[in-house]
Amino acid sequence: MPSDLIVIGGDLNTDISRVNSLHVQPLFDLCNRQCMQFCANSDISTVDYSYVNDFSAARSLIDHFLVSENVYDGIRRYGVRHDGDNLSDHCPILLELSIDVQYSAITETRPPNRKPSWHRAKSTNLLRYREILRAKLHALAIPVDALACNEFECGVHSEVLRNYYSEIMNAIISSAERAIPKQRKRALAGWSEYVSPYKEKAMFWHRIWSDSGRARHGWLHSLMLSTKREYKRVSRWVVRNQDKLMACRMSDSLSTNKSRDLWSEIKRIKE
Ligand SMILES: [Zn+2]
Repeated sequence: MPSDLIVIGGDLNTDISRVNSLHVQPLFDLCNRQCMQFCANSDISTVDYSYVNDFSAARSLIDHFLVSENVYDGIRRYGVRHDGDNLSDHCPILLELSIDVQYSAITETRPPNRKPSWHRAKSTNLLRYREILRAKLHALAIPVDALACNEFECGVHSEVLRNYYSEIMNAIISSAERAIPKQRKRALAGWSEYVSPYKEKAMFWHRIWSDSGRARHGWLHSLMLSTKREYKRVSRWVVRNQDKLMACRMSDSLSTNKSRDLWSEIKRIKE
């Protein structure tokens, strides 16, 4: 379909500059057949590499965006981020397009509603909650007949009562959403204690190495790599040992008598 705008992105495991690779020609053939282009071939591209082998430190550009020709003309930016806190051996690629679209269904993606954290609510939060809720409840029409009806599972009034119930519940939930602080997303157990120092060190040396021209050899390069390796190693260890680390956090809560923390740890284990 010549009018369709096609964007394909991903790890294609092929560095198109390696012309002797067995994968390159078939991929080019596919692109020709489908009238697709590699964004990496655009003059605008500033992508140097997208993958660094953790052990050999060899770099390659194996992550790509392929776009149809009508999209290719709209490329405004094609870059890559080499961030010090990136735990992956792949680097994120950014593609910015300016293209005419006749139709675009904008669906707002709302972050999932987090539960209200009642124990963190201050008296001002509670006051506001009461005010909002009072106004909302006030606006509801009271189904007097249905409330006065004595018939069990009444065919006339059950539906009215169910609606009334959900209106009250919605009023409560939406008032809390507006007035009560949300539950914080809990970090992994042990992350700040064990990983953060390594992360900071890795990011520090990454920044120094990056600022001084990203040399591919030398002591700065090795130091950047070794601190990154340590950071990854510790972060993997923390992810793998969540059970033990949560148990530690629980015993800490017990010994310092933070009962609220203890119960939230237990809840986390049950989930
Ligand atoms: Zn009735």
